Amino acid sequence: MPTAVPINADRLLERFLRYVQIDTTADADNLEYPSSPGQMALGKLLADELRAMGASAVEHDAHGLVWGTIPASVPHGIGSDVPTVLFNAHLDTSPEAAGSNVRPQVIESYSGGDIPLLQDGQVITVAGSPDLQGLIGHCLITSDGSTLLGGDDKAGVAAIMELAQHLLENPHLPHGEVRVLFTCDEEIGRGAQHVNLDKAAALVGYTLDGGGQAEVEAENFSADQLLVRAIGNNIHPSLGKGRMINAVRGLALLLAELPSDRLTPETTEGKEGFLHPYELRGGVHTAEARILLRDFDTPRLDDYAQLVQAATTQVEAKLPGLKFHIERQRQYRNMADAIRKMPQVVDFATRAWEQLSQPYHIGAIRGGTDGAQFSEMGLPTPNLSVGQHNIHSVLEFASLNQMLAAIEHAVKLLEIWQAQGRS
Ligand SMILES: [Zn+2]
Repeated sequence: MPTAVPINADRLLERFLRYVQIDTTADADNLEYPSSPGQMALGKLLADELRAMGASAVEHDAHGLVWGTIPASVPHGIGSDVPTVLFNAHLDTSPEAAGSNVRPQVIESYSGGDIPLLQDGQVITVAGSPDLQGLIGHCLITSDGSTLLGGDDKAGVAAIMELAQHLLENPHLPHGEVRVLFTCDEEIGRGAQHVNLDKAAALVGYTLDGGGQAEVEAENFSADQLLVRAIGNNIHPSLGKGRMINAVRGLALLLAELPSDRLTPETTEGKEGFLHPYELRGGVHTAEARILLRDFDTPRLDDYAQLVQAATTQVEAKLPGLKFHIERQRQYRNMADAIRKMPQVVDFATRAWEQLSQPYHIGAIRGGTDGAQFSEMGLPTPNLSVGQHNIHSVLEFASLNQMLAAIEHAVKLLEIWQAQGRS
């Protein structure tokens, strides 16, 4: 059993504080890749740091993706069964809360109770964030209350960077080749868009983009989106009798036909799916709505699309002349299907927590991750916790202790993969 070496907590904190101060807010309205210049700036910084610490095959590619390799510390390559393991995290932060001028605040040792923030009278309350009760004594990082923190996913970025340096500084730790990948624009669904997994050449991957500690997430929603367009007929309202067909009214009737007491984000949790109209625009002539379809059971998406289709037929009958047009866009799929083909990817992750004497939890994500898309592309990639809390909010915070635990877990996980590969 190799000697456990403590992870450098000061250096991890220093990294995290630097990374969160670079504005990498994703911008869905910008079709360029990446969608914001800060992602390029952070990517360049990380590539420079990876080179400086001695990582090999470091590349900051034309799309802003950062790649790097930590060579195996044990015999690797032809004749060896030690697999390459990928760790990935995303550089961008959610556009749902402000992400520029992040001023991180460090609570060295949280002593319990509500946490007042500096700006706007914001308070992280224990009532609103019950996780806090388990974090007494932890080093917590918050924003000043006017922005998000960006622990989603700079906690993952900082943890992977510190993992890389820790492995390079401790060559006695047994591991196969480790690939590092930082993606862009995950928050706006484009994280895997330019990722070529042949380049990763890994057997399995782990995304570090989860909340809390000792969570292994091996399932996520399957997701499609409907763009529903109502097409009416516009004419001056004074001439409207018998001639106007109001697309706004048609769309309102359509939305009223959809379930509101079930199958909605407001009324579901756990493994329940939903239909979620989240954007409306238009006028009398045409009006459109975007509706998200989400379920862990992929065929259920067809049922939801069918529900919308049936509602359009109803409304067309009520408003003669009105026509609906539905476009269905495929978004992402439940990673469970890919992971079932290689159960070790989850088994080893839970075994690593067992060996660290930490009770773990296997969870399901009510959303998607880059790893879900990698899994669908052929690289089974569950998601691991890295100390994020209250993400996409000005009340966001991160636990340095939980980030450290994520790194210790990754070291143990790599040890298990190499032992397995050589046995
Ligand atoms: Zn994330």
